[in-house]
Amino acid sequence: RSTGASILELRNLEKRFGGITAVDGASFEVERGTITGLIGPNGAGKSTTFNCITGVHEPNAGSVVFDGEEITGLEPHQIATRGLVRTFQIAREFPEMTVLENMMLAPKAQLGESLWRSVTPIVRSDVVEQEGEMRERAWEMLDFFEIDHLAHEYAGNLSGGQRKLLELARALLTEPEMLLLDEPMAGVNPSLEKKLLEHIHELQEQGYTFLLVEHDMDVIMNHCEHVIVMHQGSVLAEGVAEEIQSNEAVIEAYLGG
Ligand code: ADP
Ligand code: MG
Repeated sequence: RSTGASILELRNLEKRFGGITAVDGASFEVERGTITGLIGPNGAGKSTTFNCITGVHEPNAGSVVFDGEEITGLEPHQIATRGLVRTFQIAREFPEMTVLENMMLAPKAQLGESLWRSVTPIVRSDVVEQEGEMRERAWEMLDFFEIDHLAHEYAGNLSGGQRKLLELARALLTEPEMLLLDEPMAGVNPSLEKKLLEHIHELQEQGYTFLLVEHDMDVIMNHCEHVIVMHQGSVLAEGVAEEIQSNEAVIEAYLGG
């Protein structure tokens, strides 16, 4: 590691799809305990970078280091087990299950069924105890996000914003160190957005690290202490919000599309 403060480090990451180079030598670091923004025009390679970090895609070259350990090419559940989890741009709840039922499934879904089985004792009393603990944590999370009154509601009946809160609550049940959020504010009304941002800051104070792909520039500029700009598969600029806002190359990349 080049600095002790970084929790995530990408080195010359490369991902090709046939003739298209979606990520073209991207390198950056995310400092532990920060809310860092990842922005860039459409097609810049942000989603593909996210997918390479979280094991959805295997990069063609380069490396991803998390917490000082190489995680390049690991399976998504192996990466989640190490404390790096993500949310998706399109929420992945089960609409015909209740909010609480969705919460109870969360660790299984993120960490993988096989791992879940391997840590789940066969003794029935232990299973019951473990379920009880999980249920308690699930309630704590729902309470934290102020959606505990919706516990018995079908997830399919929630608003877009409430689904984003549920998604974040589910991700936190796996007790991660770092969260990658893919457009957490998309489809969220202004009052819920404010609440969601407050929760993110509260979680940051508890020690969590966030990497955020977000199109809403106000969110990026007002809530991220560090901003990384991608363009054509690599990092064009990075710095504090004010620097990025007035960076000529960044303005040109956005105008040029
Ligand atoms: P962003 O999220 O910044 O908008 P993406 O990472 O989605 O950018 O896309 C970067 C480039 O890679 C685009 O040209 C896109 O069309 C291409 N791309 C992304 N995913 C795939 C895929 N699964 N197959 C082929 N091309 C892809
Ligand atoms: Mg994208």
